[in-house]
Amino acid sequence: MITIKNLSKHYGDLVVLKDINAEIKKGEIISIIGPSGTGKSTLLRCLNLLETPTGGSISIDDMPLLDKKTDVPKIRQRMGMVFQSFNLYSHLTILENLTIGPVKLLGKSRAEANKKAIGLLKLVGLAEKAYNFPDELSGGQKQRVAIARCMAMDTEIILFDEPTSALDPTMVSEVLAVIRRLAREGMTMLIVTHEMDFARNISSRVFYMDEGVIYEEGPPEQIFENPLREKTRAFIHRIRSMSYHITSQNYDLYGLQGEMEVFCEKHMLSKKITGYASMIAEEVLCLQKDFSDLTLSLSFFEKDGNLELSCENPGPSFNPLDEGALEDEIGLKLIRARCNSVDYQYENGKNILRLKIKGD
Ligand code: ADP
Ligand code: MG
Repeated sequence: MITIKNLSKHYGDLVVLKDINAEIKKGEIISIIGPSGTGKSTLLRCLNLLETPTGGSISIDDMPLLDKKTDVPKIRQRMGMVFQSFNLYSHLTILENLTIGPVKLLGKSRAEANKKAIGLLKLVGLAEKAYNFPDELSGGQKQRVAIARCMAMDTEIILFDEPTSALDPTMVSEVLAVIRRLAREGMTMLIVTHEMDFARNISSRVFYMDEGVIYEEGPPEQIFENPLREKTRAFIHRIRSMSYHITSQNYDLYGLQGEMEVFCEKHMLSKKITGYASMIAEEVLCLQKDFSDLTLSLSFFEKDGNLELSCENPGPSFNPLDEGALEDEIGLKLIRARCNSVDYQYENGKNILRLKIKGD
């Protein structure tokens, strides 16, 4: 239904969208997630022609959107947008908010528009508010009206830009419930959201945006449980990390341990786990042979509170858990006693140790 090819958007020197490619089928529900400032809103605005892309193409059912001959208002009408801030006309009643577009732009009779509007207000649970004004409604109710208003235009695709982020937490679920209802009815939707549980439950596919591209896309199980790429993993697990690079045998152990301590303090980890991390780092280094290009990293997984130490050492395959055991059995025992898991992998010419440090 929607084909996006090599789409880019620059603001002066700032490259927001570098190269976006996607195919979206009718009835799909796409959640778009990613750190702020990665162009999620810009992408929706380009799709809806609220912004003019710098390059690339977008087509809807094989109709090129950026072609000069394309009837822009008509395309806009097929694609409704729901914003954070509801954008209702405050001087019109709820019913009038829903009928003004169909009467003025679609040329429907008032009676027909009213009938459809009442039906849609029932769908979003707000039929009794038809003759109220927007100011008399809560944020959640206004947002439900905004969704109904999109549907009143016989929209086929709805673009949601963080539809719940301006709402009180108590009102989020009523809006998400309405979006779920539309999903069941087969509406095609693109939803930029920070509500990860919602995205996981409702989406057919998830786009993770970063670096001006769709950095990783896949079914929600992949993105939320087993993301394939580094930045997606860091975003999903809310990983904070620090790295320390060692280039010679005479590395500064105390410097390293000091940096680790500052990192742990910043993330409010206990003295005990901080001490474990520090000791484990020292023992892990004792198991190494080559110190010419070694990276130690400490990662804190905010979501589940886990702390992971990893050691990357390029060179021929060498598993210190096997061979080191002979030379330094005590060190290995100390490590194992303080970790929930200790894994070794040889990947892309690098020896990688991953140790999950025991919590409190
Ligand atoms: P997101 O929705 O992922 O948080 P946005 O699409 O809103 O990101 O913005 C991406 C980047 O583009 C930001 O750095 C933002 O400051 C910049 N940006 C957005 N709109 C404009 C604009 N009209 N002019 C200049 N820069 C803009
Ligand atoms: Mg945004």
